[in-house]
Amino acid sequence: MLRGDATELLVAKPDGFAGSVFDLVAGTVIVDLSGYGVRLCAVSAAPESRRAVRQRWQVADIFDALVIGGGPAGAQCALWLRKLGVRSTLIEPIRIGGLQARSPYTNSWLSVVQATTAAHSVARNIENNLIAQDCSIQRAECLNVSQRARDGLFEVRTNEGLQLCRHVVLATGTRERTGGLATLRDTAVGLVGVFHAESAGRRVAILGGGDAAGEAYDIVQSKGASDIRVFARTVRARGPLWSKIPPDRIHSGGYEVSEGQVVAADQRFDCDLMVICYGWTPVLPDLGFTLQKDAIGHVTVDAAMETSLPGCFAIGDLNDRPYPCVTTALSDGVFAAKAIEARVQA
Ligand SMILES: Cc1cc2nc3c(=O)[nH]c(=O)nc-3n(C[C@H](O)[C@H](O)[C@H](O)COP(=O)(O)OP(=O)(O)OC[C@H]3O[C@@H](n4cnc5c(N)ncnc54)[C@H](O)[C@@H]3O)c2cc1C
Repeated sequence: MLRGDATELLVAKPDGFAGSVFDLVAGTVIVDLSGYGVRLCAVSAAPESRRAVRQRWQVADIFDALVIGGGPAGAQCALWLRKLGVRSTLIEPIRIGGLQARSPYTNSWLSVVQATTAAHSVARNIENNLIAQDCSIQRAECLNVSQRARDGLFEVRTNEGLQLCRHVVLATGTRERTGGLATLRDTAVGLVGVFHAESAGRRVAILGGGDAAGEAYDIVQSKGASDIRVFARTVRARGPLWSKIPPDRIHSGGYEVSEGQVVAADQRFDCDLMVICYGWTPVLPDLGFTLQKDAIGHVTVDAAMETSLPGCFAIGDLNDRPYPCVTTALSDGVFAAKAIEARVQA
């Protein structure tokens, strides 16, 4: 029997634990039952907030699921977990909506919103829905995820502290590849960068052979670039996008890049702006375990979005599923939430 001065008792109950414990008067007592049994972590004479005591004594809550990343994938997963009654929290340091909050373009690819809907409106809708449906959101950055050997719980460390969970959902998305060129002056990275870059009257080199390079050509042309060349080692863009570019503006094959200049076997192009469209690379917090990935670093998942590590899920653009976009990200979130619900109820 433990006795302390307390008005508040925070107890993490292990499965099957049933027992009365304390006689509480004033102050704060925290008991951590998450490890090998009962462990008295903190007795404080002065009343303190739960958060302050947890931080001081590094006592962690145990969630059924922690979702890391509040883009479309993580937000949808968090919403379904909330509606399914799974004890969970969404961790996002910046803005809910992920790349949709960054994109300056209209999103006309979603059947459920008007074709004129700005991408940031999609992001705002996602955030408003989560708030309206009382989803738990932590404004924090996840620094590290690891798994405890002794009980299989995941430890999720953020800049706000440590939390424990039975399932972890990685939804941290992707970022633009730059090939190390972003340090050169007068560069713009990807379609967000080219939107904001000044290109009227400038000579523009577009580097890359994917859809984004084709779209970047359209954008700088409509902004009045004086000369545009596209350099593509390999062409992966959809035909209709690529065929809009005059063939004499395209160089296919290897090339060298230096400050203000692109040199290929058959031409040298001095440019005022270089647009880097090298695709996307997955973003992950530091992981204390190894996950199976495909050749370009996307996390391999099964049909339930579970990774090679049981209990660890990966959803949205960072996994190895095809057709990354808002719709598939939302769908991934649903699959992961349902799989976790089934585990929690089992
Ligand atoms: C310019 C542009 C235009 C686009 N247009 C369309 C379109 O019209 N239609 C369409 O369907 N798709 C479009 N997309 C793609 C779409 O936005 C993405 O497919 C979608 O956002 C992927 O969602 P996600 O949740 O997987 O990842 P993201 O949207 O990348 O979200 C990942 C989230 O994780 C967070 N995060 C990262 N690291 C951490 C960490 N350590 N701790 C906590 N959180 C972290 C990030 O802050 C971010 O909020 C566009 C993308 C771009 C860039």
